[in-house]
Amino acid sequence: LIKITDIKRDFVLGNEIIYVLKGIDLEINKGEYVALMGPSGSGKSTLMNLLGCLDTPTSGTYILNGQDVSKQKDDELAEIRNKEIGFVFQTFNLLPRTTALANVALPMIYAGYSKSERTARATEVLEQVNLGDRMDHQPNQLSGGQRQRVAIARALVNKPSIILADEPTGNLDSKTSEEIMKLFNDIHQQGNTVILVTHEEEVAAYANRIIRLRDGMIESDTTK
Ligand code: ATP
Ligand code: MG
Repeated sequence: LIKITDIKRDFVLGNEIIYVLKGIDLEINKGEYVALMGPSGSGKSTLMNLLGCLDTPTSGTYILNGQDVSKQKDDELAEIRNKEIGFVFQTFNLLPRTTALANVALPMIYAGYSKSERTARATEVLEQVNLGDRMDHQPNQLSGGQRQRVAIARALVNKPSIILADEPTGNLDSKTSEEIMKLFNDIHQQGNTVILVTHEEEVAAYANRIIRLRDGMIESDTTK
């Protein structure tokens, strides 16, 4: 599903070059549940953004579903992202003053579905995350855990090949985090490939494989 070879990513800031990812090799198979860990600044989000086609590497190749996505133009990348990737962020990133249903249906507009198809599918995924009774609520009328469930429903709506989540429980209390992790567990059980970043060992314990980054390189990679 994912094959990354010698990925490097650096950033130019003024006349300084910041080397963030220093040569990552990684293969992830369909149906895996991976936790990505490592100290702050080790490059976890940078790697997630590459995996999620939000960014392209400075060098190296990324093959996603047999397609080289490492040298794509922005618009091509956006299309791949919308089709193949469901991304969940720490800060939810929902549109304000927009209902849960409309937030979830949004990626389907770009994918070209009709209004009735969008409503039917968005309703289905909101029910799947147990928000069937909150579809007309706007983000500010929902709790943090409910907002994150809307974001997860939005990530699922186009049936992506990979679900990526960058610290999805980082803004939630421990009880709500546990609910969200149960939900990711269910999503994985249903056959989805899930990759998530976390600082918490309890959260990582749900995954089948733990990859630790340190200083832009893979320090360890353990499968249960
Ligand atoms: P955290 O656990 O705090 O979220 P992280 O492992 O996700 O950390 P990254 O966000 O990937 O870390 O950042 C790694 C390094 O890359 C940091 O030193 C950061 O300052 C640098 N960096 C990330 N994005 C950019 C950018 N767009 N321009 C310049 N430097 C960047
Ligand atoms: Mg990060």
